Amino acid sequence: MAEEKLRFETEVSRLLHIVANSLYSQKEIFLRELVSNASDACDRLRYEALTQPDLIADDPEFRVRISVDKDARILELSDNGIGMNRDGLISDLGTIARSGTTAYLEEHQDEDGADLNAIGKFGVGFYSAFMVSTEVEVISKRAGEDQAWRWVSDGTGEFTISEGEREGRGTTIRMKLRKDEDEFLEEPRLRHIIKTYSDHIALPIVLKGADGEEETVNAASALWTRQKKDITDEQYTEFYHHVGGFDEPFMNLHWRVEGTLEYTNLIFVPSAKPFDLFDPSRKHGIRLYVKRVFITDEAEGLVPAWLRFLRGVVDSEDLPLNVSREILQNNPMITRMRSAIVKRVLTELGKKADKKPDEYKSFWENFGAVIKEGLYEDAENRDAIQKICRFQSTTSGDDLISVADYVGRMKEGQDAIYYISGDEIDQIRKSPQLEGFAAKGIEVLLLTDAVDEFWLPAVGEFDGKPFKSATRAGADLEKITADKTDDKEEDKPESFDEGKVDALIAMFKLTLDGEVKDVRVSERLTDSAVCLVSDEGDMDLRIERMLKQHNQLEQAFKRILEINPRHPLVASLAESVGKDGAGPKVEDAAWLLLDQARIIEGEKVPDPAAFSRRLNSVMSAGLG
Ligand code: ADP
Repeated sequence: MAEEKLRFETEVSRLLHIVANSLYSQKEIFLRELVSNASDACDRLRYEALTQPDLIADDPEFRVRISVDKDARILELSDNGIGMNRDGLISDLGTIARSGTTAYLEEHQDEDGADLNAIGKFGVGFYSAFMVSTEVEVISKRAGEDQAWRWVSDGTGEFTISEGEREGRGTTIRMKLRKDEDEFLEEPRLRHIIKTYSDHIALPIVLKGADGEEETVNAASALWTRQKKDITDEQYTEFYHHVGGFDEPFMNLHWRVEGTLEYTNLIFVPSAKPFDLFDPSRKHGIRLYVKRVFITDEAEGLVPAWLRFLRGVVDSEDLPLNVSREILQNNPMITRMRSAIVKRVLTELGKKADKKPDEYKSFWENFGAVIKEGLYEDAENRDAIQKICRFQSTTSGDDLISVADYVGRMKEGQDAIYYISGDEIDQIRKSPQLEGFAAKGIEVLLLTDAVDEFWLPAVGEFDGKPFKSATRAGADLEKITADKTDDKEEDKPESFDEGKVDALIAMFKLTLDGEVKDVRVSERLTDSAVCLVSDEGDMDLRIERMLKQHNQLEQAFKRILEINPRHPLVASLAESVGKDGAGPKVEDAAWLLLDQARIIEGEKVPDPAAFSRRLNSVMSAGLG
């Protein structure tokens, strides 16, 4: 078959452009990426060979071989892994596995479109070869097939594909190095890079010297089988990068379980948030091995979705090697390993939260929203999860607190855990509904994650104390004793003319009939004139808004308009009720105040024209 010229997908072209022009200083990471791919290719073939031993019968020892041709300025890396056929070369080397990669990298470019540390941290896989090469040639033969294929590209939009020659299965990557990349032709430099980044790779990485001698450069034993004391932090970090991490791990947990089930876990908690954390197609990052043989990175039951940010390896001694990926899901051994992993991760995170709250805070800011999914998905671990959850509150300043902290400092007479939720922390801090709480020194949790609306109803209470929204009716603030330290007698609310306020409320109800569920005197307002709250049994304001945004709610629940009888505006309106000609003025005020309450909630005014007309008329009257 003749050579065929094909174009990369647009996204790949853009990524290649970024990679080729990046001024990222640690270009040597391309070697780590290629070795990582080679090791994965060997892992995948080892698994297939469990059921089809013929695939590797002629060459059973897996390895990666690296050699250079100084004169031709070529660096070559060859593995005897699973290989790729024509279709594989086109699809695997012409697409991007993680959608959104290019967008992420583009966002992190600096003004000249250059640098970006993101590349190094991120691992752009095979494409990183173009950081150092003017041309990359891939010759690959898929295990079990006879024909090898050759893929060539200079990384500028196109690649060619043709039949190739290769002895035996596997993949060879030949890089024609750029002028200024001579260092990657030097043996000591290559040896150093391999030791630094790929020492943990479980198969031998063999460097072929100028004299033709071959030397295995890495330790070539699975990192997790080694003793903890023999592993450096750097080696853990590099292994973490091999299993898909791109930052420094926040924590690494390495332990062996012995007894009826035997298995080894090496699990990393990342410190930075992956850009696709909320992408539904994102897989969790735990690889399952059985007796050092890679089985799958898609064992669904191994970690719960709310820990999907974990990365690492679980290596079982007991699962049968020929375990099919399908039956893993309901396998009781997997279930037991999962419980143990969850417990350990929760315990270790709990220790961090207690002992290093500042470090934990940055972790929590990145992953708290995911962990909170566990509060409603994983009833079995709910209590333990709740212990590691942290929150901002109206009185905690920059610190995060636990619900236990909150309960520990509840006021006398307070029998609920109050919270308020919204999208922006600064905005909810200013909510009028919080005024009464602030006046009495009652702490309110500030919740800003969408997931909060799901776990709250599922969890309901902590330590027998119900969670209650500060935007709901029945906050019962009058029952709670104000801060003793304040001890200001004058903090007792001023009295107001109840008869007049009742008359005003009656007028408001009449005017706003059908628009609101009720109009009431507020216990919670001190500075603002009005606010909206939802009735006790009704949907919370915030969740209602969210459902409406997603078109999942057609009819809105009617709200309660609370008015502050001590506010000067309300007081003067109450004064005017019943006086000659006051009717239209009070009606306008009722509508305007309702619209004002909506605006404070960040909602739209349903009839902007009427709003403007009323506002103008009130302003003209004021001027007149
Ligand atoms: P990733 O490794 O993150 O999937 P890459 O761009 O590095 O992304 O590689 C894309 C795909 O190309 C891999 O998933 C794999 O299917 C294939 N591939 C890359 N290198 C090799 C190799 N040495 N042997 C076999 N397949 C490979």
